[in-house]
Amino acid sequence: MIKALSNKIYFLLITCCFSLSSNAQLNPVTVISDYLKINSVSGHEKKAGKFMKKLCDELGFHTTVFSDSDSSYNFCASLVPLKKKLPSVLLINHIDVVPVDEKGNWKHPAFSGAIDNDTLYGRGAIDMKGLAVMQIFALKNIKESIQIDSLRKNLVILFLSGEETGGINGAKKIIQPEIIEQLNPMVVFGEGGGGLKNVIDGKENELCFFVSNAEKKSIWIKLEATVKSSGHGSVPSSKTANKLLLKAIQKIEETEERILVDRNAKRTLKAIGKIMGGYKGFILKHFNWWIFKPLRKKIIHSNEALQTLVTNSYQLTQIQNPQGSINQVSQTASAYYDCRLLPNRSERPLLMKLLFRIVDPRIKITVVDESPEADPSKLDIHYEIMKTSLLTVFPSAHVIPLLFPATTDNSYFRSIDIPSFGVLPFELNREMVESVHANNEKIPTKAIDDGIRVYTELLRNYTK
Ligand SMILES: [Zn+2]
Repeated sequence: MIKALSNKIYFLLITCCFSLSSNAQLNPVTVISDYLKINSVSGHEKKAGKFMKKLCDELGFHTTVFSDSDSSYNFCASLVPLKKKLPSVLLINHIDVVPVDEKGNWKHPAFSGAIDNDTLYGRGAIDMKGLAVMQIFALKNIKESIQIDSLRKNLVILFLSGEETGGINGAKKIIQPEIIEQLNPMVVFGEGGGGLKNVIDGKENELCFFVSNAEKKSIWIKLEATVKSSGHGSVPSSKTANKLLLKAIQKIEETEERILVDRNAKRTLKAIGKIMGGYKGFILKHFNWWIFKPLRKKIIHSNEALQTLVTNSYQLTQIQNPQGSINQVSQTASAYYDCRLLPNRSERPLLMKLLFRIVDPRIKITVVDESPEADPSKLDIHYEIMKTSLLTVFPSAHVIPLLFPATTDNSYFRSIDIPSFGVLPFELNREMVESVHANNEKIPTKAIDDGIRVYTELLRNYTK
């Protein structure tokens, strides 16, 4: 998004000076802690969103609210007013968090924002309130160190609702032409991979940053078997809805897994193979060679991350009958599949074709929901800028492109051909990763400092 000079600059500078002095003591850890204290479970983002907007206003950023209801509060903060129409670098985050199971085992309550021994606890500490605050402090750093009227690109942070419920109340609204025109994004940076050790066999101490440039497409399928008449449990019949459905499920489960090594997967495998070295590394680097085909399955099944990279997944998540007594044979039976497809546009039609071929025609197949169709982002100059920024802060790290196994708001921007990359710009350990969407989500203050440094480098690289 956007843009430049106006005769208000002088006024702006004065405003900035005031903001800076009044915020001289602003501390990212306490800001995150305060933000974590505001319950913003999906559908109720406005209060937390307004808290962040107020902070952005106080820091002298230009804010624009795109939608203003409790379940859909979306706004941006920019260095230059959007009306200047500068191309923009867009850092995105989401205000919402997933619901909380109060009965769980909590070290600190989900909305306590507790600071305990250099670690910050609370629902959203990593996903994604902590990142939002890192983005704000990076933008603040840039604002304090450059001439804003010399900017040829706008630097913008976008705060979104409803990411955890599929983006309908957030990113999906933002990519409508009237809003995207205002934002004018040339690139988007959001959540995704992160910095991890212990991921490459034999190189456990090497820090690897995984930057996602693609995401799997999620598609939820319902299979529904219906028979004309129900029956009594005492009458044997092979044609019940449950038996029809079970046969269909069995066929799907028995379908042979297809391994697809596309350009993206090849690049990631190559990067991992290079770090790994040795015999296994050589095979990864040349995964597509026919000579290694017999070994492929063994290798990918030995590592979940590799498997994700080259296969679709079909997970049976629910089987349902309408309520009835035990001696009553159900007339209908439904099964739900959460399918995650590799990001090639041919995968969805292939899946539907497969289902119609193997499933009994009496079973109705419906797509309940799906994420937008989006091509992977090219590893272009923007990827290189993120890589350089990560390496400035973590000089000995490796940076590797990643196919992200889940869907995030990044996919909405990719679906309208805006290059989008996802990375948590700090080192994560296993405990941190496992705390996301679970009890005791946490982030160390060191990670907060690192994240601010990476985002600051990133933004600074776009001001040159
Ligand atoms: Zn998230």
